[in-house]
Amino acid sequence: MLFNKNIKYFQVAQGVWGMRLLFVNVYIVANRRGFPKGWVLVDAGIQGSAKRIIAMAEAIFGPGARPTAIVLTHAHSDHTGALEELLEHWDVPVYAHELEIPYLTGKSSYPPADPTVGEGMMSLMSVFFRKKPLDISKNVRIIDMEEGIPQLPEWKVIHTPGHTPGHISLFLPLNTTLIVGDAFVTTKPESAVAALSNIKHISGPPRYMTTDWVAAEASVKILAYMEPRIAATGHGPVMRGRELQEALRNLADNFEQLAIPSGGRYTDKPAEADETGTYYVPPFKSTTKFKVVVGLMAALAGFAVTRTLVK
Ligand SMILES: [Zn+2]
Ligand SMILES: [Zn+2]
Repeated sequence: MLFNKNIKYFQVAQGVWGMRLLFVNVYIVANRRGFPKGWVLVDAGIQGSAKRIIAMAEAIFGPGARPTAIVLTHAHSDHTGALEELLEHWDVPVYAHELEIPYLTGKSSYPPADPTVGEGMMSLMSVFFRKKPLDISKNVRIIDMEEGIPQLPEWKVIHTPGHTPGHISLFLPLNTTLIVGDAFVTTKPESAVAALSNIKHISGPPRYMTTDWVAAEASVKILAYMEPRIAATGHGPVMRGRELQEALRNLADNFEQLAIPSGGRYTDKPAEADETGTYYVPPFKSTTKFKVVVGLMAALAGFAVTRTLVK
């Protein structure tokens, strides 16, 4: 891999960098002086982005740079798309919460997305949906929630379920930096236009893939309680300071009105999962509206994404 000065990434905080891959972010987190040397990659982007992720790492740390581990906020395909390719290049441990392991070891699939609440982003995502479950059993490690991640000793791991059962966020108490994952996002994920253009707007977790809204609300309340000064989310730009704290407090206080979709598949009853994977999915309520909208949007988004990737 060549050292690439032109790779576009951004600084989140000291020792934390991010890069946007079409509509999803990945982050690199380095340990401070006085702590074990090294850095980790948080999440692994969409399929086809391994080269850009490696180029980002080499732009920051120099040619041949490799992480000590990869940490996953969750295993959705837009956060694990480049994982297998990255592991061929960097054979490192991949840390995830125990409840996320079935989706990383080929044992279970996530409950189906809810197309009645998805629209734009759902269609975008569908281009990257994985057909068969991911299996990286050789590399995967369960996060010890008491001990945290050995390669990232200063960061606290917070279980933030709802979007997925084993979703986690990472928190650095020193400067209250939060790597959120999809527990909340800073764009309107239901709009493909907003997601692609990175318009800033704090929202709950992406609706079409969130399968437990009671847990999702509790998770946002926990994160608001931490009063982060910096939030780096899976989708959308970094938010900071008062703007972040006010918007996050508002989201936590008014979660039902702001985040929970009315009449969605998972609104009344959650999908249920344990350490063996998904074991209950509420029945699908069919409407005709979504078929037309999703069909149209899928065609449009597929076209837009193909064009962007080809460029
Ligand atoms: Zn997700
Ligand atoms: Zn996501």
